[in-house]
Amino acid sequence: MDIHFLGTGAADWSPVPPRPHYGPGEWRGFATTLLAGCVLVDCGPNAPAAVARFGVDPATITDLLITHGHGDHYQPESVAALAAHGGLQVHADPVLLPELNAIPGVQASALTIGEAVQVGPLHVLPVAANHRLDRPGERAYHFLVSQGETTLFYALDGAWLTPETWSAIRRRTFAGVIWDATSGDTEGDWRICEHNSIAMVRLLRATFVRQGLLAAAAPVWLTHLARTLCSPHAELAPAVAAEGLTLAYDGLRAVCS
Ligand SMILES: [Zn+2]
Ligand SMILES: [Zn+2]
Repeated sequence: MDIHFLGTGAADWSPVPPRPHYGPGEWRGFATTLLAGCVLVDCGPNAPAAVARFGVDPATITDLLITHGHGDHYQPESVAALAAHGGLQVHADPVLLPELNAIPGVQASALTIGEAVQVGPLHVLPVAANHRLDRPGERAYHFLVSQGETTLFYALDGAWLTPETWSAIRRRTFAGVIWDATSGDTEGDWRICEHNSIAMVRLLRATFVRQGLLAAAAPVWLTHLARTLCSPHAELAPAVAAEGLTLAYDGLRAVCS
């Protein structure tokens, strides 16, 4: 499965880069990822600009999966901008559907925890994410994304897995994981109540490996990185690479197989 990281930042980054060109991790757009070349996960305020910046033809994006409705992951104007290129199937929490269905070119359908859906060429099972939300009744989702025999665990935003989610995934095998690492290498930040730090990802990965969900050498990408909580990319990326973790950056392309 092709993975194209178009935005790798948490909500504390400025929505516009300070200059047109920047090195890996110097600036991060809000988290948005293109899977299999045609399924976008999340669409915040700078997603259309990121699609253009990284040379993705917006007409090739047929489907949008929305993890949750926080402003860095979902902005109706951005969804409208992408839907203007031939329409968009959007898969989101039921609470967001009335607003989504009012956008020209959008056909929105409801996600339900534990109910698999076909999303373009991908088979997607939504599970509950451990994340605080503002809209009454809304749920936040992680996704088990399968293409053929390959399943990727897409896990942001969220902190420790809920017991409900652990039961849903504990017998699965993942070829790789894209993990929320908002709190980076900072200890003592309150955001660990609804996001991971790298130390938490380390423990989660060890559990996945020991319990047979993940091979020890399977790829793990860290994304949704907070501006104020991560050491500079040039320092942090090699440090985590030494333990087999990839610090994602805007524009990074990868393959999960
Ligand atoms: Zn977020
Ligand atoms: Zn969030």
